[in-house]
Amino acid sequence: MKRITAIAGKVLIGPGQPIVVQTMCNTHTADVDATVQQCRRLAAAGAQLIRITVPGMQDVESFSRIKASLRSQGIDTPLVADIHFSSQTAIAMAAIAEKVRINPGNFHPDHAEACAQFARFLDVCREHGTAVRVGVNHGSLGSYITGLYGNTPIGMAKAAMEWLEMCLEKDFLNVVVSLKSSNTVVMVEAYRLLEQMMEERGVVFPLHVGVTEAGNGDSGRIKSCIGCASLLSQGIGNTVRVSLTEDPEAELPVAAYLAERYGERLKSSLESSSVKEGTVTAVYDAPSRERLILDATCDWGPALLGREIDELVITGKCGGEVISPELAGYLSDEILQGARRRFYKPEYIACPGCGRTMYDLQKAFEEVKARTAGLKGLVIAVMGCIVNGPGEMADADWGYVGEGGGKVSIYKKNVPVMRHVPEGEAPQKLLELITADSL
Ligand code: SF4
Repeated sequence: MKRITAIAGKVLIGPGQPIVVQTMCNTHTADVDATVQQCRRLAAAGAQLIRITVPGMQDVESFSRIKASLRSQGIDTPLVADIHFSSQTAIAMAAIAEKVRINPGNFHPDHAEACAQFARFLDVCREHGTAVRVGVNHGSLGSYITGLYGNTPIGMAKAAMEWLEMCLEKDFLNVVVSLKSSNTVVMVEAYRLLEQMMEERGVVFPLHVGVTEAGNGDSGRIKSCIGCASLLSQGIGNTVRVSLTEDPEAELPVAAYLAERYGERLKSSLESSSVKEGTVTAVYDAPSRERLILDATCDWGPALLGREIDELVITGKCGGEVISPELAGYLSDEILQGARRRFYKPEYIACPGCGRTMYDLQKAFEEVKARTAGLKGLVIAVMGCIVNGPGEMADADWGYVGEGGGKVSIYKKNVPVMRHVPEGEAPQKLLELITADSL
């Protein structure tokens, strides 16, 4: 069995290495100064890899200037170019970035041409020592794959394997793989299937793990931790990104927690636990609310997701105070929903935003949540751009997508039902459409 270690600049990603913490800028790449400033803050806050979107050839020059500026300031954090819909841009960035992420589902619309362009791309990566991420996303699988396997975990794993085979054929091994979904069950199953397929193939590439479009606040952290902990606790995963619809700095403490915990440098604040008829009663002495949430989620989220247990009762202390019944009940509800065992509120999908984001995504997400909080049972997506957003919403019932120019498109099950809605009116319009649909 060959286990691969990928190298992006100074960072090693692979077996026996510490779990690498990464994040992504949400500034516009063309705004070089803002992106450089954000990269500086992210590097200072502990990001070991920083991803920047490169929407097209017009942004290649900006990326080069961002990189040059950071290097001139002594910041050598490897930069990852994030590419969708433009194999030409991926090939250009292979000569500039330390790592390039491509999405096989949208690398090129024609499958035969995608394979030919990918071979060219790998040649440039090899020449420049550039690492590659084969970044498959549930919801943006190519039609070639969905025609064979549907939009499923096995389809995701097969899509990744197909591109890994192309890397193996070219003897190009500087590769990391990801299979992200906002659905924790789908995401965990896809990664496990891929790990098994790679083991059967005899070559295991390092894995970038994360729950995509996890949302924000406690829910976003809990969903991310359930997905990542389910894998990292089994030794699956070499680098982690926690995607939150917040400033990217906020992602880093959660990712660092996961890296430390599963790098065995951090222990849970769990004092004791007992199980009776599928219900776990867990006693904590957590130093803070944040730690209680992360500890309880990682301690019990994987077992809930795996249906090894059914209920969670949290007691004990947090920050020196007795954990209130309200906090205990809320936390249990959130962890059960994150593990997709019981839904006590709508399920939200929200992208973290990036340089393609066309509006105030964080504000829009809060407004949508406030208007739709009572609609238990629905899946509502809030996405930052019209280019990638609709394709990435996967199994959302309703989608709210920024078009740019102060306008929003509203989708029902991936079909646009209202376009060009002014941003100020869009949350109410969404609620009206959902209400009319349920009459
Ligand atoms: S959907 Fe969100 S994170 Fe994805 S490319 Fe668009 S703005 Fe960026």
